[in-house]
Amino acid sequence: MHYRACTLCEAMCGLEIEHAGGEILGIRGDERNHFSKGHICPKGNALQDLHTDPQRIRTPLRRNAAGEFEPVDWDVALDDIADRLAAIQAAHGRDAVGSYFGNPTAHHLGAGLAIFPLVAALGSRNRYSATSQDQLPHSLAALKLFGHFAMFPTPDVDRTDLFLCFGGNPLASNGSVMSAPGFRHRVRDLQARGGRFVVIDPRRTESAKVADEYLAIRPGTDAWLLLAMLHVVYAEGLVDLGSPAPASTGWRTSGRSSPASRPRTPPTAPASRPATSGVWRATSPGRRGPSRTAASASASRSSAASPPGSSTCSTSSPASSTGRAA
Ligand code: SF4
Repeated sequence: MHYRACTLCEAMCGLEIEHAGGEILGIRGDERNHFSKGHICPKGNALQDLHTDPQRIRTPLRRNAAGEFEPVDWDVALDDIADRLAAIQAAHGRDAVGSYFGNPTAHHLGAGLAIFPLVAALGSRNRYSATSQDQLPHSLAALKLFGHFAMFPTPDVDRTDLFLCFGGNPLASNGSVMSAPGFRHRVRDLQARGGRFVVIDPRRTESAKVADEYLAIRPGTDAWLLLAMLHVVYAEGLVDLGSPAPASTGWRTSGRSSPASRPRTPPTAPASRPATSGVWRATSPGRRGPSRTAASASASRSSAASPPGSSTCSTSSPASSTGRAA
């Protein structure tokens, strides 16, 4: 038996690979994997088909004078590629070479270590990846906030009271980009412990169908909704910076009483849950679940606002739509 992690997406499900003499007999989710707890999606199961596909390329191939591919060894192939890349860039400039890499590269340790020096050495601005399809806003936010595009904040789904899912569909993505494989089970657990799962999306997604509350905003109004929610947070005095307060600057203090001037209040976590639980909790004493109020109020406000354009609601990542507990 081999125990491995699936590298096809960032959910990184644990795999249990049964084999005999090099032949794979079956691939299952690893029940003992602390992270994925046995979850696996059809792509994980299909790794066996990839591995055994008779058309899988197992050695470098080079086209010969007759136009047919013939196998060559790795040193020959790498030297040939290096020579041609250098020649192309010398003749047409650095940007004449483009690169593409996707999930299996990004989540493979060896490839992940090598790809960035290679891309840097090429020096081309023409770089492509699956990122631009599904998570670039998340990467940009991580870069701006934390200094590196890959420093993704991920929601602590297993200790969350309120999961606000904004333009994401984790039931379909299987928890990718928020490190929560088996999201269907995790959201079921969240609801079983009294938490709420709120989905905001123009489309009634698979996630919306299991949500405790679903807000179907109009496409293109997501920025207005977020601004409206921020307005409610400020207008109702729900801001509590907590421990980051001394390190915060530029915090708006006009209007109602400033956060710094109000007495700190302890979080209102029930005894059965850790005090650190909660995803986006802008709460005041005796008022539990204010995010629902804020979201609902904002939704009704946003429905009256005119959309500024025709851009659609981001589906970048569920993690990008959830803030941390204040
Ligand atoms: S959810 Fe992602 S990591 Fe898990 S089995 Fe599917 S592709 Fe692999």
